[in-house]
Amino acid sequence: MDVSVVIPLYNEAESLPELAEWLERVMRDNQLRYEIIFVDDGSSDHSWSVIEALHQKNPNIKGIKFQRNYGKSAALHEGFRAASGEVVITMDADLQDSPDEIPALRKMILEEGYDLVSGWKKKRYDNKLTKNIPSRFFNAVTRRVSGIHLHDFNCGLKAYKNRTVKSIEVYGEMHRYIPVLAKWAGFRKIGEKVVEHRPRKYGKSKFGWQRFINGFLDLLSIMFVGKFSKRPMHFFGLWGTVFFLLGLGMAVYLIVLKFTLKEFSLTNKPAFYLALTATIIGMQMFLAGFLGELISRNSPQRNAYHIEKKTGF
Ligand code: UDP
Ligand code: MG
Repeated sequence: MDVSVVIPLYNEAESLPELAEWLERVMRDNQLRYEIIFVDDGSSDHSWSVIEALHQKNPNIKGIKFQRNYGKSAALHEGFRAASGEVVITMDADLQDSPDEIPALRKMILEEGYDLVSGWKKKRYDNKLTKNIPSRFFNAVTRRVSGIHLHDFNCGLKAYKNRTVKSIEVYGEMHRYIPVLAKWAGFRKIGEKVVEHRPRKYGKSKFGWQRFINGFLDLLSIMFVGKFSKRPMHFFGLWGTVFFLLGLGMAVYLIVLKFTLKEFSLTNKPAFYLALTATIIGMQMFLAGFLGELISRNSPQRNAYHIEKKTGF
């Protein structure tokens, strides 16, 4: 199988036939062995019956339907598990991404050796105020924090080596940060390609303004998880100790003053309260570190590594 196209969708019945036809044309023209995996994320319209009808006509079109709406990340994850193509392409179902980009993306993976190529909607057809401007800011922060030089992290159109998608777990709403997940999993060759973007033809966007708040919280968690999830004590233990020692030192100093100076009153010194607070915060952080260690010790992912190659077995 040359290409698996994974398409998460939620209530996109009108778009599907057109999208399938376009994809079939591209695959035929490029003589690719392919599968199209539609992951129906609990649609309440008739998307699923459309998918079944498409499968009847073309067995390369496959479908998975969730019991309810779990979100785009879950849909992508399930599609990744099912994908068997050498190259895996993801795209949105709403016809905003163009299937004509697939051959060039595939080429970058196969010939230039990229682990992941992200689309870049350089000219974007979405609402300026609610999407394009916040998205620019969002991408700039993500670029800085992650050290990955992409202009458009959250583009639905991406191409992957099969090994890349099998090694990452897209959960929560982390579909916005798949390149970051891939980088943490050791896939360093991440590129981008300017892709054509089109206005939404049918239906409406499934994400509101909350996307930006959630997006930033997710960015914080992903950075923290990537760095410290397997060794929480290295973060909490360090800062806990720092706070505790600072507080303790300050408190001891003030107590010594109290016993040496006659007119010295502890309770009207702000520093005394700061010292107490710091020791308490320090202990709390230490405790959080211990709890984190206990949790990660019991996590099924405590040893989640990926072997790239082996020899001599
Ligand atoms: N989607 C999904 N589950 C959801 C929300 C969205 O599978 O809970 C799909 C949606 O059907 C589309 C893709 O994710 O195929 C991108 O969504 P949308 O076009 O609404 O996002 P936007 O283009 O506005 O960023
Ligand atoms: Mg869209």
